[in-house]
Amino acid sequence: MGLQGTQTAQWFERARNVLVNGVSSGYRYSGDDDTLVISHGEGGYIWDMDGRRYLDFQCGWGTNILGHGDPDVAAAVAEAVTSCTSFAMTQQREVEAAEKVVSCLRWPERMRFTNTGAEATMHAIRLARGVTGRDLILKFEGTYHGAHDYVLFTTPGAPPGDLGSRRRPIPHQASSGIPEAIRTYIRTLPFNDVEQVEAFFEDHGHEVAAILAEPMLGNSFGILPEPGFLETLRRLCDEYSSVLIFDEVKTGFRIGLGGAVEAFGVIPDIGTYAKAIGNGLPVAAIAMNARMAAGLQAGGIFQGGTYSGNGVSAAAVHATLSKLETGEPFRRIEETGTALMEGLQKILDAKGVESKVVGKPAMFSIFMGEGTPREFRDAARHDHRLHAATVLGMIERGVMPCYDALEPWFLCAAHNAEDVAITLAAFEESLEETLARAGDIPALFDEA
Ligand code: PLP
Repeated sequence: MGLQGTQTAQWFERARNVLVNGVSSGYRYSGDDDTLVISHGEGGYIWDMDGRRYLDFQCGWGTNILGHGDPDVAAAVAEAVTSCTSFAMTQQREVEAAEKVVSCLRWPERMRFTNTGAEATMHAIRLARGVTGRDLILKFEGTYHGAHDYVLFTTPGAPPGDLGSRRRPIPHQASSGIPEAIRTYIRTLPFNDVEQVEAFFEDHGHEVAAILAEPMLGNSFGILPEPGFLETLRRLCDEYSSVLIFDEVKTGFRIGLGGAVEAFGVIPDIGTYAKAIGNGLPVAAIAMNARMAAGLQAGGIFQGGTYSGNGVSAAAVHATLSKLETGEPFRRIEETGTALMEGLQKILDAKGVESKVVGKPAMFSIFMGEGTPREFRDAARHDHRLHAATVLGMIERGVMPCYDALEPWFLCAAHNAEDVAITLAAFEESLEETLARAGDIPALFDEA
């Protein structure tokens, strides 16, 4: 028996009759019995088709920073949708939103809007290649930068056994349908390994168009950069005239108004933003320094999109950032997130589970293994079955983080102290129950 009640099961059947596997994005499919269909969300909660309420710690994969249905964002969107969806010209809402993005982030010289994170990283890569006249991209193992061909290598789904040696990693192709030649343009290295990156640049630095990095591994437990790592990336890019791209699709406007740049103090040449920037609306941004802006302005490097900068998404950005820049949402998230991180760790310690709650209060994960993870390869030491079964027990109790610990918990400003108490109680009960039947965890979760 899975998570679906009667109504949800019927809706999933309807979904399967029209959508492949019943979903519009592959990540949303969790098996025929456990894929839920949601009716609506409000604040920190979502409801399935049976009216079951869940405390939502996925927040639309990190998008809903203010909570579902935030009234100010809803009002701005409703106003925009009646008069300014898409034009064949720059529009007022777009300019206002761009001013807000640049003033919140502080470091960029210029920016452009796109609609999704994948579009933003795709354009960022092209811009870096166009400016440098080079092809090679260096990315890190266990990062995800969107669904386009250039970056679908050694994503969080890669089997740890298929990565090759640390000194000579083999980029693991995440999908069929990617032309073989694309592989020649990508190199992957372990995160937080200064020595490997330096050695790689010594041999290939002059071929590298860009380092594309999630500054904190938002797709691998929320692993943090060790002191000096991001600084090394910056120094090498300066030394070899390569471009440093920080993919802040998850961290941007989430771990603070200034995202990872503010948190870790290293400034990239290009930053990509999405998710929290529009509180759930499809919108993204490519921010850039003067050198990159000059490259794009000079012409010859293409960036474009029919819906880029549309008025509805732009209105959502303006309304979201206007609330975020007051600092109040971040103060609330910091408080609830810290209470959750500490509370979860305390319960794990009391039950004797080797573990580490990793990340930042706005996005963190539970690593169930020895020590502190510092790179994707450490996923091999994580007890996926224990984690997934514990989360399943939480979902049955109405609390919903992602069952896969590589995907962090995402908090929103609507979560409060009562939600923390509910969550910790659900976690403790479920963990206890799971540990009691340790040898009997369903095989389904082998694949988690
Ligand atoms: N970059 C990062 C760091 C992400 O986590 C994601 C999606 O989760 C993307 C890019 C792709 O964003 P989108 O799904 O909007 O294309």
